[in-house]
Amino acid sequence: MVELSCYFHIPLCKRKCPYCHFYTVLDRLPFCDLLMEGLFLEWERVASFVLKKRLVSLYFGGGTPYLLGAERLGSLLKRIPRGPGCEITLEANPEEVTKEGVEAFVRSGINRMSLGVQSFDDALLRELGRRHTAKRAKEAIAAAREGGIENLSIDLMYDIPKQTMQSWEESLNMLKDLPFTHLSLYNLTFEPKTGFYKRRRELSPSLPDSEASKEMLERAVEALESYGLKRYEISAFAKAGAKSKHNTGYWTARPFLGLGPSAFSYVDGRRFQNVSNLRRYVEALREGRSACAFEERLPHPRDAHELLALHLRIIEGVDLEAFQRRLGRLHKETLSLLHTFIQEGYLRKKRERLCLTERGLLFYDDLASELVGLSL
Ligand code: SF4
Repeated sequence: MVELSCYFHIPLCKRKCPYCHFYTVLDRLPFCDLLMEGLFLEWERVASFVLKKRLVSLYFGGGTPYLLGAERLGSLLKRIPRGPGCEITLEANPEEVTKEGVEAFVRSGINRMSLGVQSFDDALLRELGRRHTAKRAKEAIAAAREGGIENLSIDLMYDIPKQTMQSWEESLNMLKDLPFTHLSLYNLTFEPKTGFYKRRRELSPSLPDSEASKEMLERAVEALESYGLKRYEISAFAKAGAKSKHNTGYWTARPFLGLGPSAFSYVDGRRFQNVSNLRRYVEALREGRSACAFEERLPHPRDAHELLALHLRIIEGVDLEAFQRRLGRLHKETLSLLHTFIQEGYLRKKRERLCLTERGLLFYDDLASELVGLSL
């Protein structure tokens, strides 16, 4: 049976963080109701397709899906038949999380949470426009565990304006005794149309320079590995048995279907995205139309180049023969580029797998853009 993941975009937020480029709406009851109507309608459209697949994971991202509440989310989950091994993740921000709230989500079917901690430095949290403190983040981690979430991921960010090495070390130290099982490490980027992007000239001088940024990453890898988390993807670390099934699907070309405004999908080699507007999303579905606003199918070998670049993010690398059996033969120019990367020390062969070296991990973005930009 073909495997599938589903992503639900829940765009509700209390307010907009200045670095955020995701589609969001304010957390208001009319928006909640409209969103639920849209999600039910969209689920009805896709249910027969989904039910022929083996559902590996469901992911409620956003936005802040925790704000939807366990009852609404449970009413959606009730309609989605899935096997016992299905990973069901809920994103949350620390300021809302309580033990009782988490217990209700667990009863509704959630078995994994991802907490947007971002930093344990209160001054940096304010700089990021976050509404929680480091103390609240620690309380939320404890509440999630006490509420019944064993598989708990946290997001942590570096390359923040005014961030110092000392502050980073302190954040890393705080992780030591916290009961999480997975960590996603991000470096802040100024995405177009965000508040930070508009202020980029003012903020840029206070960003850590490239040497400091590299040092922060290296220190994070060292610290996390010493706490028993293994780096299994460029920016993801997990304790044994806690790798994200959902995210692994993104890196290995598992088909996924996105529901909700602005949600992306990748199915049968097609990439498509719903309209990034809640009202228009629901209107389309009410009228019996698809809410899709964008669709593309990349020609071969561009599709293979993109998927290969993604797959290389995984530390154990990619089995090139198996990859080609699944996604088509790679051109000799592509193989020659990979060979050059090996000769230059960015990639190495580990048995039948091709994986990034330490040097390759540092220069991944450059390698990926060369691979994706290869014109044949
Ligand atoms: S970063 Fe998270 S909480 Fe902040 S606006 Fe974006 S989705 Fe909402």
